[in-house]
Amino acid sequence: RKENNNIFVDDLVEGEKRTFPNPVCTFEEAFAHYPGIMENIVRVGFQKPTPIQSQAWPVILKGIDLIGIAQTGTGKTLAYLLPGFIHMDEQPLPSHQRNGPGMLVLTPTRELALQIEAECNKYSYKGFKTICIYGGGDRRAQINKVRSGVDIVIATPGRLNDLQMNDLINLRSITYMVLDEADRMLDMGFEPQIMKIILDIRPDRQTVMTSATWPTGVRRLAKSYLKNSMMVYVGTLDL
Ligand code: ADP
Ligand code: MG
Repeated sequence: RKENNNIFVDDLVEGEKRTFPNPVCTFEEAFAHYPGIMENIVRVGFQKPTPIQSQAWPVILKGIDLIGIAQTGTGKTLAYLLPGFIHMDEQPLPSHQRNGPGMLVLTPTRELALQIEAECNKYSYKGFKTICIYGGGDRRAQINKVRSGVDIVIATPGRLNDLQMNDLINLRSITYMVLDEADRMLDMGFEPQIMKIILDIRPDRQTVMTSATWPTGVRRLAKSYLKNSMMVYVGTLDL
């Protein structure tokens, strides 16, 4: 049992041991070069990064795959969204030439998808077009919005897999993928859909996974879909 520290997930790392980047103590340390992001954080009035954010940001910003384990309510959404915006910003191709979204967040429920979309709209600073795709939502409207061109897709696995199987969305343009609340997605039986979705996403993408717990199924997902990942966690972790 490990407590309150950064660790490497040695069994997931194919390469040599790396130096873990120092956690950031302030927003400036992570985002000084991105005034759009700083403005939004200042506007909202946050004082400092949460522990999972301060550890996750330097890793993700280096382009490294990340597993972030922390309880609900610890700020995991911004931990992956803000570096995701920067990733999108730094893509060589502008979105209209990419012919599809650049960033995908998979999350277990409609409620979470809508919350993440709201955070996206609140903190995105470059006018990225976001779509929320979930079962029970108006499928026709979702299809039309995808056709009109989107940059960021927030989706539950079932409906996204449905659109994918019917050739209604191109996933090959995605270079930044998030598996949000991986433990809950597995509990809800979404592993087959996740697998099919990832088959269409380029292997050289960056992948971030969040979870509140670290059970066998989540470890299996990490091993299958993340490359040379680093792991950060807050609290205790049963290893
Ligand atoms: P999680 O995904 O870990 O369950 P959320 O990302 O939904 O948690 O964040 C929980 C709440 O904390 C949200 O209302 C969010 O706006 C807020 N929050 C995020 N980052 C910070 C921060 N650095 N300081 C204060 N509040 C924050
Ligand atoms: Mg969350």
